[in-house]
Amino acid sequence: MSRNLFFSVFLFFVLLCVTTSCSQAIASQSEFALATVCTITLYDKGKPQVYRDIFNRIREIENRMSVHIQGSDADRINKSAGIEAVKVHDDVFEVIERALYYAEMSGGAFDPTVGPLVSLWDIGSEQPRVPSQTEIDQVLPLIDWQQVELNQESKTVFLKKPGMALDLGAIAKGYAADEAAAIIRQERIPRAIIDLGGNIVAVGEKPDKTLWRIGIQNPLDIRGAHIGIVQVREKTVVTSGVYERFFEADGKQYHHIFSPFDGYPAANGLLSATIIADASMDADALSTAAFVMGYEKARLLIESLEGAAGIFVFEDLSICITRDVDFILSDDDFWVAVD
Ligand code: AMP
Ligand code: MG
Repeated sequence: MSRNLFFSVFLFFVLLCVTTSCSQAIASQSEFALATVCTITLYDKGKPQVYRDIFNRIREIENRMSVHIQGSDADRINKSAGIEAVKVHDDVFEVIERALYYAEMSGGAFDPTVGPLVSLWDIGSEQPRVPSQTEIDQVLPLIDWQQVELNQESKTVFLKKPGMALDLGAIAKGYAADEAAAIIRQERIPRAIIDLGGNIVAVGEKPDKTLWRIGIQNPLDIRGAHIGIVQVREKTVVTSGVYERFFEADGKQYHHIFSPFDGYPAANGLLSATIIADASMDADALSTAAFVMGYEKARLLIESLEGAAGIFVFEDLSICITRDVDFILSDDDFWVAVD
């Protein structure tokens, strides 16, 4: 081949690659929202506009539900605690309604009125601290989901006691993930992975028709290190774990998922609880609930729910799995307990 011909052929292939890559889908996009890194991966028809629509929707949800955003619906509800009912957007009403549903189902282990406890410990801020028992005793009477009054017709929310505060951090990401999945399905994008800080939705199936392989975070290792994988199709996989947010004081670790019963980080031997379900909002609420309830009670609850399953990781590095989970262990420091 002459030198010129070689370069012409080379140039042809370079141009071909550039043109095909231009017309190809954008593989994935990450943005910081809902206090976490959100990564959307659209296979096949991943147009920039679809990514924009999804992230706009996620931000819209954050702007309505974050208690840290002044003037958000959640912030207005909290500021009106004990004073008056607040009219909220349908999104917010739906999430609070569902949160109360899971509060009842979990016997109060999941409680969207944990706001005062979250502020007291201030985990995730620059200055978290272990509060005194007196401080904890003062806020505990304010943690009571039964003191939230919803009005279906007027779409209003009222926290009956002054000082009460909602915190939707244990359910809002799940709702946002479901909404992202709805946009993807509406756009007829056949497969996608939504990952809102570990709140994962697997849309469709892989091109070769095999199952999605979703990694389960090793609670004791760096982010992205997995103890194993779970294989799913059209499911959501959501984990609540000690590693998500914590601080150390006097040689002890304190994490961010509180027992509404004693006001301390839930301590029942668990490092994480993963729920596999059809809707991410349900899995998000259930994983937090399961973490607080502990294995025995959580297992009974999960197994009573159609389409739901769980993976529980314990401090002794054992793993318990409910029925219907296709789990493959990949880290031999951990072991699957059989009962
Ligand atoms: P998740 O990572 O989904 O389990 O949510 C944990 C977050 O939910 C925490 O950072 C708090 O903002 C909030 N939270 C903590 N404890 C509870 C609880 N018992 N019920 C509901 N929300 C909680
Ligand atoms: Mg949750």
